[in-house]
Amino acid sequence: MNETNNPNKKMTSVMIGLEIHVYLNTKSKLFCSCSTDIINAEPNSVTCPVCLAHPGSKPVLNAKAVEHAIKVGLALNCKINNNFFFSRKTYFYPDMSANYQITQYEVPVAENGFIKLGEKKVRIRRAHLELDPAALIHPQGLGKSNYSLIDYNRSGFPLLEIVTEPDFSSPLEARGFLNQLETILSYLNVLMPNMTMKADCNISINGGNRVEIKNVSGFQAAEKALAFELARQKQQEKVGNKIEQCTRLFNADTGQTVEARKKETEEDYGYIFDPDLVKVFLNNKQIEKIRNEMPELPQQKIQRFVSEYNLNEYESNVLCNNFDLSKLFEELMQKKVDAKITSNLLTRELLSILNHDSLKLNQVKIKINDLQELILLIKNGKVSDKNVKQSLINYISGDNTPPKEYLEKNGLLIKEIDLESIINNVLEKNNNAVLDYKKGNNKVINFLAGLVMRETKGSARIEEVLEKLKQKISE
Ligand SMILES: [Zn+2]
Repeated sequence: MNETNNPNKKMTSVMIGLEIHVYLNTKSKLFCSCSTDIINAEPNSVTCPVCLAHPGSKPVLNAKAVEHAIKVGLALNCKINNNFFFSRKTYFYPDMSANYQITQYEVPVAENGFIKLGEKKVRIRRAHLELDPAALIHPQGLGKSNYSLIDYNRSGFPLLEIVTEPDFSSPLEARGFLNQLETILSYLNVLMPNMTMKADCNISINGGNRVEIKNVSGFQAAEKALAFELARQKQQEKVGNKIEQCTRLFNADTGQTVEARKKETEEDYGYIFDPDLVKVFLNNKQIEKIRNEMPELPQQKIQRFVSEYNLNEYESNVLCNNFDLSKLFEELMQKKVDAKITSNLLTRELLSILNHDSLKLNQVKIKINDLQELILLIKNGKVSDKNVKQSLINYISGDNTPPKEYLEKNGLLIKEIDLESIINNVLEKNNNAVLDYKKGNNKVINFLAGLVMRETKGSARIEEVLEKLKQKISE
């Protein structure tokens, strides 16, 4: 019997939870005054006794990191804890010279929140602050070098770990959540630039044991890792093997997960209160102040764009789910250009070019005036869709000539008088085709229109060309 047609075949129930590690945008590290600007720094040059964990050095908590964490907590509809503290998570690893990570275990900054993912409510278990370990460098690649190097410049970077409940039922849904989370965090302006979010991905099927895929870098990788793991667990069940609780690692090159170790429990880390750090007491006024300073969030902006600019829900979603794109849209709106045309230009043409070239908006140079000019040309019917796209591709990925200048230089703007003479010319040279058309072969009109379009370098509107051709032939 065909498996998919078997009504007795049970659906696989899938439970996925995520632990996302986000680098917070602070000037200095979480517990010392070392800079977080390490891009051009020599290895191990941005360090101090605190982030190297020298005996006797005392950590001091970065207030900005706490403020960012509270903002995130509020945006994720969490309860903010007024009193919290830090604990030591003990483990040995060369990237952690203290042999413990300073983190929050018993009481996190924020807990019990949720965000809406379409109609679904995804529960946020907690968000807590912790420090990042040093970077291990494997000169010939992981597993291939016979030695490793350690760079402590990154040691002590502020991380916020956001933990969800196991509320996702597919890898795709988990990816959707990660995208939405990133959008919210970019609205809050709390993300450290140029740092990739990392996720630990937990997955179990049919109520079985949970497998954790550690430290997956990037959203696409997280979706792939989960998809691989889901297929692997289904296969294991099919042949009658029990899924064992374990930790696995994702290899982005092969797209596979491999077992790293049997899962340890949280108790194995022997958390203890960190006596070097004072307990944090926030009063309600401090939290309210941060709440009052919260910027507009994606959901609010989507609704505002619909009512203020008369956009439909869908295009407003596309614009607002990309913070920089929504910002660009509003800058153009201040120039009083047509909202609908602008929205089309940004959400269809611009986004597809960026996606095609794997670029982000903040990586390309765009001048408001250049786009404003292009929008005016579209509004006045001076340019075909095809040439809008071409001028924009050249603007983003070519020699950056402003679209209007490019269209003028290449004779791609629509000129009425030219169209007349081009049509006359084409008709004169194709007498036989004209006769065919008159005899009732209607398809010939498309052939003639194609010739005209070629002569206009695609700058004419096809509807207009067809109309004018028919008119001329019947004269
Ligand atoms: Zn330091």
